[in-house]
Amino acid sequence: MTYDLNNIFAKILRGEIPNKTVYENDHVLAFEDINPQAPVHVLIIPKEPYVSMMDFSERATQEEQSALIKAVGEVARIKNISTDGFRSIANTGEHGMQEVPHLHIHILGGRRLGQMVKPLKSRP
Ligand code: AMP
Repeated sequence: MTYDLNNIFAKILRGEIPNKTVYENDHVLAFEDINPQAPVHVLIIPKEPYVSMMDFSERATQEEQSALIKAVGEVARIKNISTDGFRSIANTGEHGMQEVPHLHIHILGGRRLGQMVKPLKSRP
């Protein structure tokens, strides 16, 4: 898939749209989700143009991959959810229901989040 330079996160990275930054380094930006689904809801994105986790896993350098994973821990510490726990999600493609075509990891926490997806069959 070709990277769309006009996606909303590309505009955030270019400074065309404001964001509430939580954490930043050379490779990643983490900011508050505009429509939070939990008391803590932060998005972590690579600064380079990767469409999805598939694209990132294929093309990102080791340094970029490492920085993204490290940022998960940094954000959890900054938002004070590392002890109680949290959920990290990267929706990918059509079945994953990814809306914004720039890789992002959701960090959700601050309360018990409940079931992630419905079971295929409910248990008897
Ligand atoms: P996804 O469905 O995994 O692609 O998630 C996209 C996320 O981006 C949603 O949780 C939106 O609330 C969030 N979002 C969209 N626009 C903005 C924005 N301008 N600033 C922060 N978060 C945004």
